[in-house]
Amino acid sequence: MCAIFGVYHTRKAAELCVIGLHSMQHRAIDFAGIVSNDGRHFYREAHPGLVRIAFTAGMLERLHGLDALGHLRYPTVQDGPGRDNIQPLQGIYDGKPISIAHNGNLTNVDALKLDLNMPFATSLDSECILRLFEKYDSGDIVVDAAKVFSLLEGSYALCIMLPDVMIAVRDPTGNRPLSYGVSNGGYFVSSETCALTAVDAEGIEDIRPGELVSFSVAGVAKHRLFESSTTLKQCRFESIYLGLPSSTIFGKSVATFRRELGIKLEEVCPAHGADIVTPVPDSAMYMAVGYGESQRSGVYMPVILRNHYVGRTFIAATQAKRDAEVVQKFSFASDEIRGKSIVLVDDSIVRGTTLPKIVRKLRTLGAKAVHVRIGSPPTVYPCRYGINTPTSEELIAAHQTPEEIRMSIDADSLEYLPLEVLRNLSPQPDSFCYACMNGEYW
Ligand code: SF4
Ligand code: MG
Repeated sequence: MCAIFGVYHTRKAAELCVIGLHSMQHRAIDFAGIVSNDGRHFYREAHPGLVRIAFTAGMLERLHGLDALGHLRYPTVQDGPGRDNIQPLQGIYDGKPISIAHNGNLTNVDALKLDLNMPFATSLDSECILRLFEKYDSGDIVVDAAKVFSLLEGSYALCIMLPDVMIAVRDPTGNRPLSYGVSNGGYFVSSETCALTAVDAEGIEDIRPGELVSFSVAGVAKHRLFESSTTLKQCRFESIYLGLPSSTIFGKSVATFRRELGIKLEEVCPAHGADIVTPVPDSAMYMAVGYGESQRSGVYMPVILRNHYVGRTFIAATQAKRDAEVVQKFSFASDEIRGKSIVLVDDSIVRGTTLPKIVRKLRTLGAKAVHVRIGSPPTVYPCRYGINTPTSEELIAAHQTPEEIRMSIDADSLEYLPLEVLRNLSPQPDSFCYACMNGEYW
């Protein structure tokens, strides 16, 4: 789960890039990079840590030019000391600099590397894309893009910066979101629309699956790279957990979608007689609002507060770090908890490290009962398309039944939103990926 943000042809491009990346910090917190361009030279700053800390005023002054390309990344096992795995990556195309930022995961990296047969500077799958552009360099980026992308399998939403043009591409399955908008005569490309809103962009549109959109002084040009008959595999988890509620993802408001999930969850998995409905903050908030809407299974009353100075546990690097963070992450409105039967709503159970601690705390504070409701089906399979879900061994639902999980988190009841219900809430249910829930990889 990464984020990309491109700025084409506007003053203070690097600063606007920081604003865009900062508003997508929920997607990755470990590495941030920006490459800018003044029409001739490219300038790069890439650092570990949060965006607002990683980029100093001095660095922004060094990022000259009217164009900038930014990327956020979380760490993976391939990272090692002394290896610059931070994006955007840089290379040479048509005798000039090229920079790319990639969100997603290629599934045919081994075959691509075998074919390229060259040393790699990073251990990123994204470097294959850069090297392929260098290999098939004809000087016509649209022609070469059609060739390069025909060789890729898996998931890619990309922004590519050349000295005089910026290019945005989504793979033909549309697996990851990518949108663009206009502000002050400049163009902005972003993984999530919340970042476009943050820079006051208007006329926001999705890059369509299999489409290449180029931005240049001549304006916007759209090219279809693939037949439209390709099956769409939009990541269903983007709307359930990853995206910010203020974003519109795959044409639907994330807040609205989550509220609808919550309403349905109450209909199919009620907890009649419960007093209050509280989310595990923040991502389950709108699901809990929806769950409490009918007031049949308790009223919405958030009693768990999140400390916003601790990062998301899901994307922390190691198990030890995760455990420490969960303890520091929440505080509890104890007077509203004592003597109450509580519905605890969460968006998903991944490792199952957070929920037992929260349930235990609610009981310690005098909750009469704790009914856990999950707004998505069990996460049983790892993601192969760029989401940092753990291996099967670490996924609790891969080796425990819902009843075993209920016991291990010490809840009075535990129910998940059935997959069929999730599918039916999706417009064109077959245009989404559910592989982490049903194992149907593509
Ligand atoms: Fe998204 Fe799950 Fe598919 Fe990965 S496997 S792309 S997380 S729906
Ligand atoms: Mg959560």
